[in-house]
Amino acid sequence: MFHRQSSHTEFVVENITISVVRKNIKSLRLSIYTQTGKVRLAAPLWLSDDALRMYALSKLSWIRKHQKRLESRKPQAAQAFVSGEYHEYSGGRFILEVVPHTGKPRVVLDHSMLKLFVKDSSTKHYRANVLAGWYRDRIKEQIPGLIEAWEKRIGVEVAAWGIKRMKTRWGSCNIRARRIWLNLELAKKPARCLEYVVVHEMVHLLERNHSKRFAALMTQFLPQWRSLKEELNEPEA
Ligand SMILES: [Zn+2]
Repeated sequence: MFHRQSSHTEFVVENITISVVRKNIKSLRLSIYTQTGKVRLAAPLWLSDDALRMYALSKLSWIRKHQKRLESRKPQAAQAFVSGEYHEYSGGRFILEVVPHTGKPRVVLDHSMLKLFVKDSSTKHYRANVLAGWYRDRIKEQIPGLIEAWEKRIGVEVAAWGIKRMKTRWGSCNIRARRIWLNLELAKKPARCLEYVVVHEMVHLLERNHSKRFAALMTQFLPQWRSLKEELNEPEA
């Protein structure tokens, strides 16, 4: 056992490079960066290198699963909105089927298919917008019930909420206006992740900063919040 000067190190298990950050924390925290797929392990200062290696080994299937998921998501930037493509909804992957249709556009979930009823001549941009509108409606259905339930549990009141596209955050909270914004992309995540973001933003009405108190409140209201946060692939700062 020896102490390193630097708190940043790296090791490799089964061809997977894991960067280690030693911090004054109590437990191990594993995360994967959404953009790069890189694996990061935040570890308490006192844990041995062997212990970290063992931990990483025990998490290999989890790491692989998430890396694969990120990999499969990469082509999404170039999605063409044509039949056969995979699209995500509520934590699942669905095969897009574009159904030629002349009336009002609509989206229908049919088992593993996501059916998009649009004009044959519709553009990629138009189809993307129809699907985005459908995603928005799916979130809208869930929010009022979630907010109502959590207002009672947390003891705060939300004055207004909205959904918008956000590049770097899953949600935000304007504390003074008691207004919550949610990222449209949450429609692609499991409902439990949407709930986690709603609770996170509502807890900001009690505590502005991501402080120890904030974490304690989250644990009080939603004990599994850390794993939900991981599921959303938010690397710890
Ligand atoms: Zn926050």
